[in-house]
Amino acid sequence: MSKVVAANTIDGKKLAKQIRSDLAQRVESLKASGRKVRLDAVLTASADDGAARVYANNQAKTCESLGIEYHLHELPGDSDEDEILGRVLLLNEKTEVHAIMLHMPLPAGVDPYRIQRRIDPDKDVEGVNPANIGNIVYGRSSLAPCTALATVRMIESLGMDLKGKRAVVIGASNIVGKPVAALLMQHECTVISCNKFSEDVPGMAATADILVAAAGVRELVKADWVKEGAAVIDVGIHRVTFDPPLPDGTKRKTVGDVAFDEVAERLGSTGHISPVPGGVGPMTVAMLLSNVVDAAERSRDN
Ligand code: NAD
Repeated sequence: MSKVVAANTIDGKKLAKQIRSDLAQRVESLKASGRKVRLDAVLTASADDGAARVYANNQAKTCESLGIEYHLHELPGDSDEDEILGRVLLLNEKTEVHAIMLHMPLPAGVDPYRIQRRIDPDKDVEGVNPANIGNIVYGRSSLAPCTALATVRMIESLGMDLKGKRAVVIGASNIVGKPVAALLMQHECTVISCNKFSEDVPGMAATADILVAAAGVRELVKADWVKEGAAVIDVGIHRVTFDPPLPDGTKRKTVGDVAFDEVAERLGSTGHISPVPGGVGPMTVAMLLSNVVDAAERSRDN
């Protein structure tokens, strides 16, 4: 029996490492010309801010390793919209601050949109100000949402001519699916955007040269949803617990929106697939830092 050759893995960790090393050099060059790079993050204390704190701690370490100055602004859990907005507006004004990010969640009753739309678009390294989404659509150089950038950077890393390629994006959230679709349109792909009401998503997916799975549904994309030779980027993150453990002793596992093994097999040796973990996740962190350095390079004031 002939051995089945599975698709090539798009290694997000390796790509992210290369990006970080390029960024460290760009930060060095800025420093050599007397300019610092600075990221300020706003975190509002809350009962469920554990993940945000872990993220903030990791960010502080990564920034340090690249020579980026990192400042965390912790606000009390009972802060209202005016207080959080006040801090953001202050950071907008400071010329030494190049990059601003707002940790989620915000206190109950505070609408993130009302704060995000006031972040200076030139400092908005998470790409959450609607002005930046508009800039993507207009093809203007812009700070795009990091997960969307990570997804597209992974596709670009394959070196294929994207013009006219059929891209199907499963999921149409403001932070992932819509900006991915807009960025792929910028590459002149033929883009189909699917949401939970779309009919025959498997049928459309099976025609895709590029398939992006960002629905937030565990292992939604099966082997018969893809065509041989396609490139599949899996954005989903699902932490699964097995009780009792699997026969091999596994108790916990992180999986994506794609049933990896069967899809990789179907894609074959000419196909490409990003794994979970080790795919879009590490690249998202790298793209945030890339946005920080872009913002610092573009700023005229420091
Ligand atoms: P979301 O819930 O905001 O949006 C999901 C989108 O998928 C919606 O547009 C919905 O209509 C669509 N959808 C749901 N079920 C569908 C189906 N069966 N067919 C077609 N469309 C369907 O989710 P999100 O914030 O965009 O996140 C999506 C996934 O990506 C989640 O698993 C999330 O954990 C992950 N994520 C990963 C990163 C990262 O850094 N790797 C970052 C953000 C989100």
